Amino acid sequence: MERRDILRAGAALGGAAIIGAMPGSAGAQDRAQAPAGTGGEIKTDDRPTFTVPAPRVAKKIALEEHIESPDFPATGSHPFVREDYFQDVERRLQDYKLRLEGMDKAGIGATIVSLTQPGIEAILDKDKAVEMSKRTNDHIANFFVKNAPGRLYGFAAVAMQDPRAAADELERAVKTLGAKGALVNGYTNIDDENEGRYLDEPPVWEFWERVAALNVPVYLHPRIPMPNQQRMYAGYPALVGAPWGFGIETSTHAVRLILSGLFDKYPNLTVILGHLGEALPFTLPRLESRLRHVNNGSHGKHVLRPTEYLRRNFFITTAGSFRTQTLLDTIGEVGSDRVMFSVDYPYESMQEGADWFDSASISEDDRLKIGRTNAAKLFNIT
Ligand code: MN
Repeated sequence: MERRDILRAGAALGGAAIIGAMPGSAGAQDRAQAPAGTGGEIKTDDRPTFTVPAPRVAKKIALEEHIESPDFPATGSHPFVREDYFQDVERRLQDYKLRLEGMDKAGIGATIVSLTQPGIEAILDKDKAVEMSKRTNDHIANFFVKNAPGRLYGFAAVAMQDPRAAADELERAVKTLGAKGALVNGYTNIDDENEGRYLDEPPVWEFWERVAALNVPVYLHPRIPMPNQQRMYAGYPALVGAPWGFGIETSTHAVRLILSGLFDKYPNLTVILGHLGEALPFTLPRLESRLRHVNNGSHGKHVLRPTEYLRRNFFITTAGSFRTQTLLDTIGEVGSDRVMFSVDYPYESMQEGADWFDSASISEDDRLKIGRTNAAKLFNIT
């Protein structure tokens, strides 16, 4: 039996079968287009109905969205990524018109762009890193933001090879270029590809002090593990990147921040995690439970329970994780005030992210908060 016939049969039975047609489903469309009023059929078009498409969240805000500048290209390339895919990504990273077209189609009003990984963090020469962070921030302001006022905003790139210079550059970017905070791609290399500096480590606290004073968020973004820490993925090279290693690297980095006591010294710091929290909403409760049985001194200087920091000092975005079950767990752990929509464009599709989000089984209040108002408040975007 054709779908349309089923609907007609349902109508003949008093409409009972129609109730199953969900908003926005093909069934609802069929029904709207079905010829009515002929052959003894019951007219359905003029009856009040719930079977209308779900409304999009108008003007969503997305904030894990990447760019690169022509003088610092292909910073996100990995040898295991398919060439045709990466060519498309590359084309989109440097372009703002394609981005705006995609935003229009997906109902995204504003986007905060950031330099793609590993970016500044992988530059081994300290002075070059500082200089390139300034050039990148100027390019974001003069090319992306300037060409799309009110639609595109920027996160600053900073050189943690020199934390004081990073703090100064963040301040310049925020105060003179209008940057909405910083995005940091994981650990920063220090002189060697196998030497890294994580954001909880003492030299970086000078940077955090300035972040606290400026009162802007820092987005902690993934990068692949250091080469000498990839033994676990041997034989499966793609696992070091976005499919798996990104999340392991970034969730562990966030745990380091949580345990370090950083958020006790600067309680107003805000760190943003993508990919629905890099699994932390799921894994942090176990960490907290097991830490009850380990020696003091083996897990940092934090004062509160780890999940308390996750709820107080973190925001979590949907970037690259378009999965309702995982979103529901995240909302359950941190509350819908701490979750924000994002895509991870151009690595992910704005259309795919928006189609999923706009019809995900969450309350309309939460959809509006997560889609727009949480970010609007946090970044003062109207
Ligand atoms: Mn990303």
